[in-house]
Amino acid sequence: MKKRVFNFSAGPAVLPEEVLKQAQEEMLVYGDAGMSVMEMSHRSKTFDDIIKEAQNDLRKLLDIPENYHILFLQGGATLQFSMVPLNLMNPTKKADYIVTGAWSKKAVKEAKRVGEVNIAASTEEENFTRLPRQDELKLNPDAAYVHFTSNNTIFGTEFKSEPEVGDVPLVCDASSDILHKKIDVSKYALIYAGAQKNMGPSGVTLVIIRDDMVQRSSDDLHTYLNYSIHVSKNSLYNTPNTYGIYIIGLVYKWLLNNGGLDAMYKRNVEKAGWLYDYIDNSDGYYKGTVTVKEDRSLMNVTFRMQSEELEKKFIAEATERGLVGLKGHRSVGGLRASIYNAFPPEGVEALIDFMKEFKEKN
Ligand code: PMP
Repeated sequence: MKKRVFNFSAGPAVLPEEVLKQAQEEMLVYGDAGMSVMEMSHRSKTFDDIIKEAQNDLRKLLDIPENYHILFLQGGATLQFSMVPLNLMNPTKKADYIVTGAWSKKAVKEAKRVGEVNIAASTEEENFTRLPRQDELKLNPDAAYVHFTSNNTIFGTEFKSEPEVGDVPLVCDASSDILHKKIDVSKYALIYAGAQKNMGPSGVTLVIIRDDMVQRSSDDLHTYLNYSIHVSKNSLYNTPNTYGIYIIGLVYKWLLNNGGLDAMYKRNVEKAGWLYDYIDNSDGYYKGTVTVKEDRSLMNVTFRMQSEELEKKFIAEATERGLVGLKGHRSVGGLRASIYNAFPPEGVEALIDFMKEFKEKN
C-alpha cells in the first residue's frame, strides 16, 4: 500500500486512521449482517442500531439535553441555508445574521428569499480579517432568530464563545468546527454542520434542533424541507446516506475512546498554538491573515508569504514532501492549513519543520 500523506485539506478532510481501518475490516461483512453497511436496508434492525448509537454517542459527547433532536440529513450545509429560514422565520419573518465570511453571506442570500434580513454586523469592509465584537452587534429583539457561523473556513476566524443574543433563538453553522470542543448546546436553538470536516465523509448534514423550533415548521413546506417531518421519522423519512452515518458513528466512538471533547480541545489548542507561534516568530516571513489574535481559528490556520510566486513554490515543494492541501481557498489565495480533530500532531510538526527549512533556503 502507498504511504498516506499529511492531508491539510479544508474538507472533505482527514479522518482518523483507526476509523478507516475499522471501516475497511467491516467493508464486506458488518457484524452478523452478512453484508456491507452500504448494502443493507435503511429500515433494517442493524441500521436502526447504527443510527441510534450514533445519536446516543453524539448526545454523550456534547451533553445534548433531552429536548433536542439529532438529525442526519442531506444537501450539505448549503441546504440548511434555506431550511433554517423556511422553517424558523415563521413568527415574524425577520431574522438577524452576523456576517463573518463567504459562508454567512451565502446563508443571508437564501434567508432573503424568505423574509427580512437584518445584518447585525459584518466585517466585510475589513475583508473578514476579524470577527465583530459583541458591542458592534445591532440585534433586533423581534428577530425570529440570530444566525452566525462559528468558524470561517476560508478566512480562518473562529468565535471563542457564542454571541450574546438575549432571548432570541441562536442558530449556528458549525460546519468547520463542530466537536472541536465542548459547547453548551442549551445556548442554541439549532446547530447545523456538514459532516465532511470534523465528523466523516461528505453527504451528511448534522442538525441539532430544539423541540420548540420544530413546532415552527409549517405544513405548507415541501416535505424534505420540513424539520418536523425529519424529527417524526428520526431521519428516515427517505433513504439517508447510510454509509456516511455509519462512518460518523465510528468517528464519535473514536472521540469517546480518546478522552472526549475536552481532550480533543486540548490537543487542538496545542496543534494550532505551535503553528501560530512559529508564524508569529518568523520575522514576518510568514504572516497570519487574521488581525485580531483572539479571533484566530483553531481549525483553519490561514497565512501568507511575501509574494504569490513564493507561495506557489511553497505549495509545490510541500506537496512533494507529503504535506498536501495547503493552498488557500480559491477566492482568497494564500495558504491554509486545516488541522481538524483527526489531523495528527506529527503533521503539524512536519509542516513547521518544512516552513523553517523553506525560509532558510528562500
Ligand atoms: N458553511 C461552512 C462554514 C463551510 O465551511 C462550508 C463548506 N466548506 C459550507 C457551509 C457549505 O457546506 P456544503 O458544501 O456541505 O454545503
